[in-house]
Formats: sequence, structure tokens, C-alpha cells
Amino acid sequence: MIQDKLYDFVIVGSGIGGLSSAVVLAKNGFSVLVLEKNNQIGGALQVFSRDKCIFDTGVHYIGGLDPGENLYRMFKYLGIYDSLKLKSLDRDCFDLIRMPNGVSYPHGQGYDSFTSQLIQQFPEEENAILAFCEKLKEICDFFPLYNLEIGEEQTYYTNPEILSLGAWDYVSSLTENTVLRSVLLGSGPLYAGDQHSTPLYVVALIMNSYIKGSYRLVDGGSQIAKLLVQELRKYGGDILKRKEVVGATYGEDKKISTVVCSDTTQYRAKNFISNMHPSITIDVFGKDKFRPAYRDRVQKLENTVSSLMVYFSLKEKSFPYINYNIYDHYSNDCWNSINDRSENWPHTLYVCTPTSSKNDEFADSVCVMCYMTLDEVKEWEETFNTTISPSKRDEAYIQFKKEKEEQIVKRMETRFPGFRACIKNVYSSTPLTYRDYVGTPEGSLYGIKKDFNNPVGTTINSKTRIPNLYLTGQNIIFHGILGATIGAFVTCFNFVNHLDVIKEINEYEK
Ligand SMILES: Cc1cc2nc3c(=O)[nH]c(=O)nc-3n(C[C@H](O)[C@H](O)[C@H](O)COP(=O)(O)OP(=O)(O)OC[C@H]3O[C@@H](n4cnc5c(N)ncnc54)[C@H](O)[C@@H]3O)c2cc1C
Repeated sequence: MIQDKLYDFVIVGSGIGGLSSAVVLAKNGFSVLVLEKNNQIGGALQVFSRDKCIFDTGVHYIGGLDPGENLYRMFKYLGIYDSLKLKSLDRDCFDLIRMPNGVSYPHGQGYDSFTSQLIQQFPEEENAILAFCEKLKEICDFFPLYNLEIGEEQTYYTNPEILSLGAWDYVSSLTENTVLRSVLLGSGPLYAGDQHSTPLYVVALIMNSYIKGSYRLVDGGSQIAKLLVQELRKYGGDILKRKEVVGATYGEDKKISTVVCSDTTQYRAKNFISNMHPSITIDVFGKDKFRPAYRDRVQKLENTVSSLMVYFSLKEKSFPYINYNIYDHYSNDCWNSINDRSENWPHTLYVCTPTSSKNDEFADSVCVMCYMTLDEVKEWEETFNTTISPSKRDEAYIQFKKEKEEQIVKRMETRFPGFRACIKNVYSSTPLTYRDYVGTPEGSLYGIKKDFNNPVGTTINSKTRIPNLYLTGQNIIFHGILGATIGAFVTCFNFVNHLDVIKEINEYEK
């Protein structure tokens, strides 16, 4: 069943990248339709609710949101900033890095706070701490759009060598102090930090944004998706849920004519943008339509690891609300443990108390994240379970989750004695959950793994060889809400004048 309307753009997927692209294009006069396979829009911005608590599945805090900063201005341009319910994390500690030596180290907001607090704890390492921060800033300067500049001189494409710096190696060159290395890079789960592959530029773009304004989303991240949809509709755009795109039809000019959904409906457009993972995009749009070299390269790229998320609802007024994130390391070797499944698992816990509008003295829930690979749930790989295609996984899977949850509770007890007594209920999700709900291969946290040993090979262009198919989202520049939003602008700059857009974004100074 082919729909009559010919859109300028059909966008497949309603993650932050798909929705931001939709708003930019609609705001610039194009007709846009977004197709989302799930019942809930937003991709990794989806939330779920249990015991009257709202749990985020994929966004716990966002950087770059202080007035005048990059994401602040982009969200202003997208028309959503003023309606967002945000809570600033503690200015003197947005992330707390707890090391196995029992000592905790704060990361403060603003470079002055960040450096001065660490220098207090590592007075003999002042030079290393200052040099690290200078390097973060220096690298960010090579990314013009990140700084909302036109930038034609000093950029990462004129100076590609900056993409080949390894983060762990760089920090190791600054200091012999192994605790300081792990403290500087202690928020590694934000980008799945790995000693052998994570580029310094990824760390710089992400850490710099959090240092420049870290915020939680009150009552969950889905508000971003809802506000973007409101904006899209304001400009005449459409969005349809429960529309899984499973194929495409092509015209004689080798251009895509329609996308085909699993319910057999087809949607026509002049151009198509995929917010799906690039390798899934190739499967859906037809392997034979892509050049073999491109197809093989993309489909062989490694993805970042996945995670186990454990969600606790808590008894009333039993546990304090903590206005910072905790990265709790049980090993000094914090960037060398992603695939470790020994009895030391997990090496690192990310712990946060989500912000609720109901109460800011006590937490009504706690989320804990740690690395897990799809291999660990391989036994259930053939199963698929989402709200719109429900299927119960077997008792063994439920038992597997219970054992993992118990391991996490035991770990939490060592750091927060009495935690077990605060728990009302425990829920968890595995790599299978992320794979099924968001559609990332292996349930990967952040999509394609960037590798400083092969920076060009792990970078994805927003253009494809199919003349009217483009890519957007976290795989274009870098991941995260900031990264995927920048990726959306990059995709849209194929169609709208980037000078005009950047000029307009820059009008939102304060
Ligand atoms: C556990 C976890 C924690 C995270 N924490 C943070 C954080 O604290 N801060 C932060 O900034 N970032 C965080 N991130 C990263 C961030 O959430 C992602 O980088 C970002 O949301 C990805 O956006 P995206 O636009 O690339 O697409 P995605 O969110 O991956 O969305 C893709 C969309 O495409 C849809 N889709 C897929 N296939 C089809 C199809 N065939 N037909 C139709 N629709 C389809 C999916 O359903 C989905 O809605 C986290 C991610 C995870 C997983």
C-alpha cells in the first residue's frame, strides 16, 4: 500500500539524531515524515515506569547545557531548551570517582573547579592536571561545529593527526601516578573507555562538555523527544510510531522511491535519512545496493560494548538523593576491564539517583550500570522481546538476571552499607533489551567503536553511495545527546545552508 504524499524527507528512526534532523529540515521549509518502529519515540531517550518511578534507559546526564554553551544554543535553535526540566548537578562535583584505595575524587564543573580540586588531592601532579585540561580544550578547538564556528583553518580535517592520539597513552605520558590516570579518565563508561582504542578526541569532546555544564533531566530524558516532536509538528512535520522499516523500493535512476514497513505500507520521499545503525541500514536498504568495499568495511566495524542496567525502586525516604554521579572502580586498571568476566566482574559501577520532581532530599530510585557483552546472554540471542512484539524469555534468563542483580546489590552494600534494606524492587535490562528496543547491533551502548589506530576507518560519512540516502545519529561524529545532535546538523548541512544555520544558532548567546 503506497501512500500518496511525496515528502521531501522520510527519516527512519526517532532517536535524538532522527528527531533533531527532522526539526532542522522542517524548520527550513521541507516536508518531513519520521517513521519509528517502537511504541515509544526517542530511541535511547525512552523511559519506563515501575512503582511510580520513572527510569531512563539511555540518558542519565547531559553536558554543554550552561547558558551560551554548545548544546544550550543548539537546543535553543531546535526550540526545546526553554521547556526542558533540568537540574544542574553539583557545581563542585558532577562526577565522583571512587577508587579501590577507598578515596573519592570529585570532578567539578568549570575548569577552575575541576583543576583546583584535583590539585588539592594530587599537589605534586599540578602540571599533569593542568596539561590534561589544556589538551582537552586544544583538541576541542579542532572541531568547528562543536564550537559553533565556521572554521576553515585549524580543523580535524586539516590536522587529522589529532584523531590518532590515544587517550590512555596520552594520560600515561603525563603522569606515572596510576591513581591519577584512573581519576582523570574515571568517567570512562560515558564513552566505553578502552586503553587500546579510545581516541583522545572522544574523551576531550565529551569531558569538555560535561565540565561546561552537567545537567540531569527531571522525570526523565523522554521530555527531549516529546518536545522535538512538538516542534516538528509546529512546522508541519509528521511522525508515525509502530512503523518498522524493513526494505526499500528503487527507481530506474538507482534512487530510493519508497521505504517499506513491516505492515506493508510504503512511504514516498525525495530523500531518505537513516537514524538506524549504519550496518542495519545496509541490511534494510539492501546489501546489493551498496558498493561491496563500503558494505564490508561498515559491517566489519566493531561496536562499543553493551551493558547491564539494574534499576532499584526504593522505600520511601530510605536513601538520600545524590546530586552527582558515582563511578565506583573496584580495580585500578579501570580501562582494561570491558571484557573481564572473572569473579572480579564488574570492575566499575556507574551509580546515579535519578532526579524526580516529587522530592529532592530523598531518592525514589537508583540506577546502576556496568559493562556486559552480548556473549553473556548468547543463550537467548534468538529471542526478541519489546512492548509491541512481546515474548517471554525462559526461566533460565530470569534466573541469570537475578544472579547478576544480586552481585550488584552485594557491591552496592560495600559502598553504601544498609542499601539492601532500602530496596523496594529490582528490575534489570541486558544487552538483549538494548538490541531489541533501540536496534543497535549487540545492544551496543554507543554504536561504532572509534579507534585511534584507525580513525578514518571508524568514521562514518553522512552521505552514502545511494544518491538519496543519508545517515544521521551517534555514528556520524560522536555519541551521546550532544554528539548525536551535532551529527544531525552535519546531516542537514547537505540540504540547508550551514552558514545561515550557524549564524542563527549563534544568536542564542545567552
Ligand atoms: C545505557 C546508556 C546510557 C547512556 N547514557 C548517556 C548519558 O548519560 N548521556 C548522554 O549524552 N548519552 C548517553 N547515552 C548515549 C545516547 O543515549 C546515544 O548516543 C543517543 O541517544 C543515540 O541517538 P541516535 O539518534 O543515534 O539514535 P538511537 O537512540 O539509537 O535511536 C535509533 C532509533 O531508530 C529506531 N529504529 C531502528 N531500526 C528501525 C527500523 N527498522 N524502523 C524504524 N525505526 C527504527 C529505533 O527504534 C530508535 O528509536 C547512553 C546510551 C546508553 C545505551
